[in-house]
Amino acid sequence: MRSIRRGDSGPAVAEIRSILVGLELLDSPSPDQFDDAVDTSVRAFQQSRGIGVDGLVGDETWGALDAARWRLGARTLYYSVTDPLVGEDVRTLQERLLEMGYDAGRPDSIYGARTARAVSQFQREVALTQDGSCGPQTMKALRRLGRKVVGGRPQWLREAEAFRQAGTNLVGKTIVIDPGHGGGDDHGVVVPEGPLRWTEADLVFDLAARLEGRLAAAGMRVHLTRGPQPAKSMTGAERAMLANSLGADLLISLHLDGHDNESADGVATYHYGTGSGLSSTVGERLANLVQREIVVRTGMRDCRIHAKTWELLRLTQMPAVRVDLGYLTSPADRDRLVNPLFREQIVEAILAAVQRMYYPVEADVPTGSIDVRQLRMALSNRA
Ligand SMILES: [Zn+2]
Repeated sequence: MRSIRRGDSGPAVAEIRSILVGLELLDSPSPDQFDDAVDTSVRAFQQSRGIGVDGLVGDETWGALDAARWRLGARTLYYSVTDPLVGEDVRTLQERLLEMGYDAGRPDSIYGARTARAVSQFQREVALTQDGSCGPQTMKALRRLGRKVVGGRPQWLREAEAFRQAGTNLVGKTIVIDPGHGGGDDHGVVVPEGPLRWTEADLVFDLAARLEGRLAAAGMRVHLTRGPQPAKSMTGAERAMLANSLGADLLISLHLDGHDNESADGVATYHYGTGSGLSSTVGERLANLVQREIVVRTGMRDCRIHAKTWELLRLTQMPAVRVDLGYLTSPADRDRLVNPLFREQIVEAILAAVQRMYYPVEADVPTGSIDVRQLRMALSNRA
């Protein structure tokens, strides 16, 4: 759908206004104009949800607004295999269960089997009928207990433990590389005056293909989420589902950034996390390693790592990061990115970061120090 934006009017705008009023981000629901006040409150909403802040209501923002209508307690939540309930109320419930130490899975706003099981365990402990659904009785018990019991981050500790148990050898692990954009007319960032073949979509595909070869040579099973010329574009959710269905151990999504100001440059890496402090510890570690290896090896500006709740990061069941490998709109970054030797350096950096994920923490090495050729020799000697 076309993004709804400042200057638009009509029933869809009225709908957006009424949701924003419900979230207490806007005062008046009445007119159906997308005015400055709506623009400001859409941006505040995007900020709070970790969605890119642009004031436009496109598919992702609309989906988040639609889900945000539901406050916990406003409806009975139950598990449906065919048509799962989705909403802000589910996410609040999941975060509350996690805080209380129940294994509700990643807070993805979807009332799935794992959430139902966690509710059922909670019901058993407070002596309620164990039906795995969250109605008025269960809500009352949650309200009574929820504030008292606030633990650590059990979900992330479990994720870290599962990752540790998977072993310290990357041979045989499955990694999904996700080149961003592609398909239809989704080229990502395009620099008008540059040669058109250097779109974000093409450059990140080239990087993904190089990385695929190197990771496979190191013994990993590698899947790309798309080919060089996909027939249609894919959403973040579709990419996440694909990685889940492959049972991937890691996912790395590759993008480039763009900005009106051509002096903006540098590399940034994103992992799953919310503003309220819930964060994927393994994802954060991967983000740190990727970011630091790239910065040290290439000298690009360090725009640091950040927690986001983007669909791709939220819906993936494995540690997942997205890295924005420089600004295509920056003449300095662009000159380097169109050079295949520089792209090879980036590939080496990511390969070293992935390798370090599988070193035991105590055996880890300084950033920038892994010689990837030695690694390959060591692996071939072992095989
Ligand atoms: Zn992008």
